[in-house]
Amino acid sequence: MLDPKQVKEMLKDHCINLRFHARGGQGGVTASNLCVEAFDGYGICQPRFGAERMGSPTESYVRLSLNKDLIQSNEQVYVPHFVAVLDDSLLNEVDVTAGLPYGGWLIVNTEMNQKAVQLTLAMEDINVATIDATNIAMEILGRNITNTIILGALIKISHLFTLDQLSDAIMARFKGEIAGKNVKAIKQAIEETCIYEAESGRELALEVDTKVPWSQVDPGLPGYKELDLAGVWYCDSDVIKVGSDQVMTGSWGEWNIIWDEEKCTNCAQCWYICPDFAIVREIDNEGVYHMKGIDQAHCKSCQNCIEVCPVNAISAELKQGPGSCAVPEED
Ligand code: SF4
Ligand code: SF4
Repeated sequence: MLDPKQVKEMLKDHCINLRFHARGGQGGVTASNLCVEAFDGYGICQPRFGAERMGSPTESYVRLSLNKDLIQSNEQVYVPHFVAVLDDSLLNEVDVTAGLPYGGWLIVNTEMNQKAVQLTLAMEDINVATIDATNIAMEILGRNITNTIILGALIKISHLFTLDQLSDAIMARFKGEIAGKNVKAIKQAIEETCIYEAESGRELALEVDTKVPWSQVDPGLPGYKELDLAGVWYCDSDVIKVGSDQVMTGSWGEWNIIWDEEKCTNCAQCWYICPDFAIVREIDNEGVYHMKGIDQAHCKSCQNCIEVCPVNAISAELKQGPGSCAVPEED
């Protein structure tokens, strides 16, 4: 286990990174803000939102150091030394341990014990701390808001800030009774956090955060061929369920989108922005993705890709003829 002196030494010439996984509405971003506000040093935090709706997975990132030069990055954290998961249903949905270095810690709000968390993740060799923050939240706050409570578990294993420092940050942010209740809940979390260390004395590897080039990122997102349900269409009282490969979004737009292979630098920005997975990439033997073309049957000609392409390698051409569409006609 880390001790406070050791952590203070690390922070002098290293940056410690944190990543919070939550669902929209659970307050993961507030938790990361509070870390920076409670920390006696330099800190920065950034949120990353996916689809903007309640319940969808969100991430937020924190960098803390006593050296201000080490926190000057606005990018997401790729190597988190501590990962906090506010909702254990995310364990099956999101790669919560991505980038976790040797000696890093995973903190989970869950009723499960550490063994069950490891089994869920199929990772036995991992440091885990668990806290039933939901139970504490319902008992003390009367609402399932666990974002401050999980910080109690973080204090217990990381020593990045103290309960007093976090209490001051909470008092400055929240008012009156609610602030007091949050502090009470955090105290209880510190007492109730269960800790499992995979190997005693394991040192935290303070690896430098490294950005993964887009050309090597596999987002793990399914394409239209893998999605078995693309849309639910209503027809009077009947519900018609259709597979993605039957929804030809390419027939919706007026433009043919044209890709210029010569100009393309494989930056993958078009692939990232395309709402219809219509940018097709292929992987080579060395694990690097290359742009292959545009799937006209699913490109709805929104032109987002044209806007983001930094080298003007994509253009649009008006489809010819009345009623013409991008879906290839059958023989
Ligand atoms: S025009 Fe829109 S749908 Fe078509 S490839 Fe570009 S981003 Fe995707
Ligand atoms: S955004 Fe432009 S340069 Fe980048 S991969 Fe797409 S087409 Fe190529």
